[in-house]
This record gives sequence, C-alpha cells and structure tokens, in this order.
Amino acid sequence: MTRSGSRPPLRILLLSTSSKVAGRLSRALGQISDDVVFDSLAFEQWSAGDQRNVPADLVLVDVESSAAKPAVEKLLADPERGPVVALAREPSDNKAREWLDAGMAAVIDHASLDDSNPGGPAALLIALARAERQRKDDAAEFQRSLADSYDSRERLESQSAEMIAMAEDLERAYRLADDSSRQAVETARRLEGVINTVADSVLIVRADGRIEQANPAAEQAFGLKREILLGGPIDALLPGIQLRRDEADDRGSRRSVFEWQARKHDGALFPIELSVGSLRLGDDHFEICVARDIADRKRAEARVRELALSDPLTKLSNRNAFRARLEDAIERSRRNGKTVALVLMDLNKFKAVNDNFGHPTGDALLVEVAKHLKRIMRKSDTVARLGGDEFALVLPEIDGVEGVPPLLGRIIDAICEPMVIDGSLIKVGASMGVAFFPADDEDVEGLIRKADLALYQAKATGESAFRVYDRQLHRQMRQRKTLEDDLRLALARDEFELHVQPQIDVQATRVIGVEALIRWRHPTLGLRKPNEFIAAAENAGLIGPIGQWVLGQVVNTMNLWDRTGEAPLRMALNMSVRQLGDPGLVDAIRDCLTKARISASRLEFEITETAVDRHIDPLVERLTALRGLGVGLTIDDFGTGYASLAYLRRFPIQRLKIDQSIVRNISKSEADADFACAIVDLAKSLRFGVVVEGIETQNEADFFNRIGCVEMQGYFFAEPMPIADFPKWRRSFEARRVQSMGRGRARIGR
Ligand SMILES: [Mg+2]
Repeated sequence: MTRSGSRPPLRILLLSTSSKVAGRLSRALGQISDDVVFDSLAFEQWSAGDQRNVPADLVLVDVESSAAKPAVEKLLADPERGPVVALAREPSDNKAREWLDAGMAAVIDHASLDDSNPGGPAALLIALARAERQRKDDAAEFQRSLADSYDSRERLESQSAEMIAMAEDLERAYRLADDSSRQAVETARRLEGVINTVADSVLIVRADGRIEQANPAAEQAFGLKREILLGGPIDALLPGIQLRRDEADDRGSRRSVFEWQARKHDGALFPIELSVGSLRLGDDHFEICVARDIADRKRAEARVRELALSDPLTKLSNRNAFRARLEDAIERSRRNGKTVALVLMDLNKFKAVNDNFGHPTGDALLVEVAKHLKRIMRKSDTVARLGGDEFALVLPEIDGVEGVPPLLGRIIDAICEPMVIDGSLIKVGASMGVAFFPADDEDVEGLIRKADLALYQAKATGESAFRVYDRQLHRQMRQRKTLEDDLRLALARDEFELHVQPQIDVQATRVIGVEALIRWRHPTLGLRKPNEFIAAAENAGLIGPIGQWVLGQVVNTMNLWDRTGEAPLRMALNMSVRQLGDPGLVDAIRDCLTKARISASRLEFEITETAVDRHIDPLVERLTALRGLGVGLTIDDFGTGYASLAYLRRFPIQRLKIDQSIVRNISKSEADADFACAIVDLAKSLRFGVVVEGIETQNEADFFNRIGCVEMQGYFFAEPMPIADFPKWRRSFEARRVQSMGRGRARIGR
C-alpha cells in the first residue's frame, strides 16, 4: 500500500449558512495541514442539483441550521458517502448521542472552533478525512489486487492484514483527536453496547439528576418506555436517592452497593440492590446506577425469617421470637420507665383432646386458641406458642398492672367457650401465670421463672384461672426446691427409715400383715411422713430409687424375721403412679425377690386410687405383668377418688383398701354410714377383698366388723412403728388376745 505525497489532497466540505464558521474552520485546517482542500457550501447550493457531487472525503454539517436536517438525511442515506460530522452549538450529550446513533462519525462543538485551539477539531476532521481517503484507496487497491491474484491465498491473507492495519490506523486517527466531547461520546458508545445486554437495570444519570441513558432491562423493570425515562429525574424512580456527593468524592470512580426502594410506573415500590459508580468524562460527571430487583430474594429472606421466628402451625411467634421480643420490651422499659407484663399460658385437658380426638383435632384446637389470642391482644403485644399447648404473651409498655387481670379474664372466657372442631364439640380451659417487669424481676430469665411459678400455682387450682406472681408463692416454691435438694441427698446420707403398721384380722384377732411405711429423718426438720415429701420426690425424679430402697428394706426385713422365727406375714408396699410408669419396674421387682429368695405371694402393692383414672391401657398392662410375678395388688385409699368401677374390673387386683376418711364419717350421719355400707357391698359384689384403714376407735372397728369387714388397720390397734419394735409389739398383742379370750370377750385394740 502506498501513501505517497503525490496523492491528491484531502477534501473537506462544510455545509453551513454561516460564513463566519467557514472562515474559522478554513483557518484552522490551513494551520495544521497543507494538503487539505476545504469547500464550504450553503445548504441550498448543495441540495440544488449536481452540487451534491462535489467530491469530499468528509462532510461537516452545521446542524444548528433549520435546513440541515434534510441534508443530513440525504448524506446518511448515501452508502458511498464519507464520514459525516455534526457541527453543533453546545450540544447536550443526549443530542450528541442521537447524532451518533443516526450514523454520524463525530460531533464538534462550535465553541471548539477556536483559532487558539487549531489542533482540536481541525485535527479530528483531518484524521477522519484521511482515514476515509485511506479506506477508499485501500478498497480500490484491494479490488485491483483481488483481480490480480484472486486465487492466491497468501495474497488474501496479506490483504486482510492490511485491512486490520487500516482499522488500527483509523483508531489511531481517532485517538489523535483530543477533543473531550469526542472522547465522552466514544466512551458512552462503548458503554451502551455493554449495558444493552445486561439483565440488571442500568441508568446513567447526569449531575443534575436527570436520566441520561437507560437500558432495555430498566424499561422492563420500571414499566416505562425509554423515551419517557430519558431526561426524567432519577428521583422519580429511586425516591429520595442522593447520588451526588461532594466534589472530593468525584475524583476517580467510586462504587458503593446498598439496598433501596424503587418505584414502578404504577407507583408500586419494589426492593432493589443498587450499585452506584461515578464516571467522569471530561468535565462531565455521570453516575452509573445498576439496579437489581431483589423482590424475590426479599421474599425468600422473609420466608426464612418467618420460619425461624414463627410457629408453623399457628403462625404465632415461636419461642425464639418470643424471647427476642421480651428482651426488646424489657430494654425499652428500662428507658421509658413503663411496665412489661409477661403471661405464660397452658391449656387444661389438652392432652385428653389429643388422646380422644386425635392429633389433627388437637392441632386444629391450637389454631383456634391462637385466633382467640390474636383477636383479643393488641397489635403491639407479642403472642407466641412456645410448644405443645404452651403459649406466652408479652404486653410491652403498659401504664399499670390494673388492666391486665380483666384482659386475662377475657382470654380465659374465650378459650373456655366450647369450640366446634372437625364436627366435634370440644371444651378446654386455660391456666395463666403473670409476672411484671420491673416489679417482679429485672431480667428476662427471672421474669420467665416467676411467670412460670404463677402459672404452676394457677394450674394447681385445677380449674381455668390466672395467678399473678407473688413473693409468698415464690417462698413456698423455694421451700419445695430446698426440699427436693435435700431429698437428693437423703438416700446417700441414709436418712430414710422403714416403719410398719400392723393389719389385723379382727375375727381371728391376729396379725395378718403389715404395711411398710417410709419415714425420712430430716437432719433439721426431724421425722417426716410420706405425705410431706413423696410429691416432691416424684417431681425430682427420685421416686424410682426411693421405691427400690423400700423394696430392698422390705425383703431384708422378711429375711430377718424368717431367720429370727417370726411367723410369716404379708407385707404391703405403697406404689406411686410414677413408679408404675417405669418400664423397668417389673424386672427390678423380680430380680429383687429372686436374689432375696422371697416368695412373691408374701408381697402386696398398694396402688393409689387416683392413679387409676388415666392411661388405662398401659396401666392394665403393667399391673398384669406385676400380678404375673405372683404379688398381690390392692387399690389404696378407696372411696376418695373417682376411679370408675368399670375400670377397676379390668385391673388384676385382689383387694380394696377403704380410705380412712370414710371411716371417719360413719358416726357423723346415717347417710355417711350408708355410704360406707354401699362401698363395702360394692367391693364384695365385685369379689374384691376389703381392708379398712384408719380405724381409731372401738365403735369404728365394731361398725365395719358388723358389715362384714374383718381386715383392719389403724391407731386403734397400733401406730406405725420401727421394724425393730414390731416383734415385741406382736408378742404383746397376741398375749392380750389370749387374755381377752380368757375373759370371754373378744376385745381387741390397745
Ligand atoms: Mg397405703
């Protein structure tokens, strides 16, 4: 390729109505090059006929003229035309981009046609014209070359290389031009190619907050056509956004990413993640906003949060959320001096609903309860389900405690109303305990503990009720706790003792057995009876080991008495409900009897009647297994509880033990005496043996003897006594019997 100086000069044509502009440009071009021919035509001249054939390597159009538009259209429509450059007065970047979009090669500002700046636009024009000339030359030469050796591959490759070099020249020519608006436009052009293909919304914003450019993704995201977006305030799409910062920040590019709310065409807000970068093109500042719609992500996050903080069944807050809200409420109250109420709630008889109607119905009931709670509580209150049938309420910022009891009353009333669930009419109740911050405790843990104590007391009433925490209650609880702690040590310290109380056959006037009764010799409180510590032992999970200890003592005593020649006796042990629930119970008893070589028939277990009204099937199973060992079974304290006789018939028991409260009442009225008779008749008709406990007087002994009871136990015969005292007592009892027989009167007792 040749670029000899003998080539014809470059031709640049200006279409303008201003001779002043033509003069300035001519001077500028002349200053930097002597092989440029500069022509200037008015639009009318150019459009009239063959003037259009004026040869030009580059046409410059003064677009400020009203006549420019048709000329530009014609020029751009001509495939053979050279580069067309727009000459404009202070063109906005928007406008400049439009021209570039239309196909113009560059945009030059009138103001830059300054004699003092000859290298500016003139150099650009010459470079462009030269590139165009080169293109034409090269194309011509290419054609010639192709014709010369169209079958030569090397030639083709060489031609390609030439073309590439030409393109590089062209780029170099562009770079020569240092016109800042030219650079800005080029940069904008490159950017445009990228942003039109990205999936995120891209908005280029001018320093005045107007949108300079928007990509197709932005049109779609905001639901607005590009024409409407462009030139509009960014504030309309990103309400409240402040993109410009102080000048110092504008040096170089900066980027920041944050979340913001964007507004769609219909006013709907949606969350975005916004990345803002700053761009400086010459003297112009732009902010490039890249917005990503994060509504889906937000929904997913909300769902995760909901799962983490809400109870899936009732949609109430869960335990985690409850704690957080309580902590928050307490924190706020520390500042504003207001009161927080914490309410813990339990449903009454909920287990029976699950047992009788099934878990789906139980769940539906919990949902109903949740609805009641939400309806009654304020929006600012927290309603939580902690698990099972346990609920919690946090009432933040209340002015006083007076409003709380009526509110709790309303909740109880609502929950106690029978509810129709899955076609069944179901009635449950609720117990609630309340504690207040800061009056009752000053931290979360303490407050929960205190509301829980109050709840415990409410439940103890056996009916639907609420209790407000009080110190008295707390003291009782502390005492119970101390008792439990002491009990834990009692076994290790060997503080338990076994006492026995004789059981008498009053007709044969002889001792037929003993009931083994545990005593606790407390280091400071003295000798304690079972009713003072068995419930605490059950609560503390100590009833199993204590039961084992009693059994061990009983078999040891039997062995001792066997060795010392005591006549064999039936020994009765009391069995707690909790003990019956222990799956290892039967094996433990069998092992104990086998090791001690004691016949099971000499043992009798007394089961409390109140234990017999629930979980009937597992209980029957366990008692049957016990009975299978060969031990006797008695229902203790009969006549006080409400065990159904129908249930009793399913138990493998031999005996009922009439409670002492019935004995106590026989002398009060005829009706009470009749009741005692009826119970004894009932027991006999069911073919159960009968033992009467708590006989304290001759009258009582005589009464039960008359109605056919012969086995008795009570202070009238003997108080419970240490095991060691029993053989002596027995000898003395039998000696008296012999004496009374001698006097001809069967008088028994002490
Ligand atoms: Mg008993």
